Amino acid sequence: MIVMVKITKLSPLEIYKLLPRRSGCRLCGEDSCMAFAIKLLSLQTNLEKCKPLIEDPGFRENYEKLSKLLKPLVKEIEIGVGDRKVVIGGKHVVHRHELMLRNPTAIAIDVSDDLDKDKIIEKVEFINNFKYEYVGYELKLDLIAVRSVTNDPERFKSTLKIVNEYSKRPIIICSIDPEIIHAGLEVLDKERPLIYTATMKNWIKVLELVRRFKVPVTISSLGKINDLISLVKTFRKYGISDLCLDPGTI
Ligand code: SF4
Repeated sequence: MIVMVKITKLSPLEIYKLLPRRSGCRLCGEDSCMAFAIKLLSLQTNLEKCKPLIEDPGFRENYEKLSKLLKPLVKEIEIGVGDRKVVIGGKHVVHRHELMLRNPTAIAIDVSDDLDKDKIIEKVEFINNFKYEYVGYELKLDLIAVRSVTNDPERFKSTLKIVNEYSKRPIIICSIDPEIIHAGLEVLDKERPLIYTATMKNWIKVLELVRRFKVPVTISSLGKINDLISLVKTFRKYGISDLCLDPGTI
């Protein structure tokens, strides 16, 4: 099990040394730069609150160093926009019990495109309103996955239009057919949906769509970890870094 991570190896002093260290400034809301450094390490604040660091060109290099040091090991990915945005990833730890409340795992329920309009709306409303009390937390559903089962681009489009109109959650486009994915992206081109999914078979066309529509994408490898690594490297080579990894659920 991987437990140790970069941020937990840092000391507040290492962070402090790179801060502007202006005594009595308190623009970050803390009494001192050391207090700010400690909060940065425990993820209770963010670098951008230190205005001198951000605004003074003399600290540009320090800001870049700190950004790199504090960058999460797992990249943060935004799905959706505005009120319907969900953020996943951004983890500084791999161990599941540490810092687990930062971007908790997002849960999605799917709606298929073979349903009639009333049934789609009923499912979407269920997802919008679902709540579950669990040890003091109110859990809800975070995303809605629209799955193409008819393999008909027009049917998929009309399902997505209904879901997009009624859903309060961001949307996952579920298909391995690039034509269907393209149809979905045309409907949701301003909504930043997550594509599910690119595989060894469809990746060339999916990569083109991801670049064109600037959306996050899942990469699936059917249990073959080397395929997953290869696809991730390829997507990154083309400048695509908003990647979710699926080692094998389809
Ligand atoms: S805003 Fe920056 S320089 Fe000012 S006290 Fe906070 S950390 Fe120090």
